[in-house]
Amino acid sequence: METLRSEHKLCLSCMEEHDVSIVEIEEKEIFKGGEVEITSIYEYCSNTDELLETEDMIRANNLAVKDAYRKKMGLLTSSEIKNLREKYGISQKDFSEILDWGGATITRYENHQVQDRAHDDVLRKIDSDPKWLLDMLKRAKDRLSEKAFAKYFHEANEEYNKRKNQYLIDAIYAIYADFEEETVPGSMELRLDKVVEVINYLAQRVSNLHKVKLMKMLWYSDILNFKRHGNAITGLAYSALPMGAVPEGHDQIVKLEGVSFDIVLYDEIAYKFKPTPGFEIKNLSDDEIASIDKIINEFGELTTPQIVKKMHDEEAYKNTPKNCVIHYSFAGSLSIE
Ligand SMILES: [Zn+2]
Repeated sequence: METLRSEHKLCLSCMEEHDVSIVEIEEKEIFKGGEVEITSIYEYCSNTDELLETEDMIRANNLAVKDAYRKKMGLLTSSEIKNLREKYGISQKDFSEILDWGGATITRYENHQVQDRAHDDVLRKIDSDPKWLLDMLKRAKDRLSEKAFAKYFHEANEEYNKRKNQYLIDAIYAIYADFEEETVPGSMELRLDKVVEVINYLAQRVSNLHKVKLMKMLWYSDILNFKRHGNAITGLAYSALPMGAVPEGHDQIVKLEGVSFDIVLYDEIAYKFKPTPGFEIKNLSDDEIASIDKIINEFGELTTPQIVKKMHDEEAYKNTPKNCVIHYSFAGSLSIE
């Protein structure tokens, strides 16, 4: 028995006013035919040597038994259920409605009733898969108020986007697992935060920044910085494709959170990059910005065919076999500086 604190009050055990201790006790309880270990809370009267439970304590001790059982059985605890519901900002009643479980089901799960395995699986799925919740919300739309639906949909969408970005980041790192110092001399740690910043910085200053031009300007910025300071800015690995240097994972990179573009239709669909509202530089150093500025001065006004032509004349490009990774060791022969 451990004393947590004491309160001066009328003691319902001895019916006198005195300092009543609030104590914690490790106990074993039987629930659903099995034993669970819990920490219960009681009031303790030293006059009668008795333990007492207030209404709140009865509720808390009861919940502790249920949660200990849930943990033992590998089910979500009451607070885990509450947390996942609150992550999406959904009320208890509406959550039951969305799941089609009957009005008070979630309220009961967050309190005294232990959910069955099937419901537990559904709750876990919602926790890990916001896309699924979005589908369930659409299904329940008519049964929710317009305002509540809009709010929940927004929250679920935010969670989905967060996850989508993490999937992209994971995919890019998986691609880059193959590019180490041994395979790409001069390579360095991949910094996706800097990739996003360089793209935004360029998009702010270069008009008509289409994808092919952006890819070249990224390469030039990286290799110029390498030439000047011995390290690239982003750590991207670039391959020698027919149109010049293209970073590995370029399809994923342009979809990263913080990268913005319009889709424009010429002869074919093209990406035109633009600064993301609220963009600010947090990670690029002054030296790195100076390298990018130099590239903007040199190439910012060039058309895509002109910059591709420049690229084709670079020793780094000419000396790299088709589709192979361009080594940073060519920085010395760069046409700039
Ligand atoms: Zn007492």
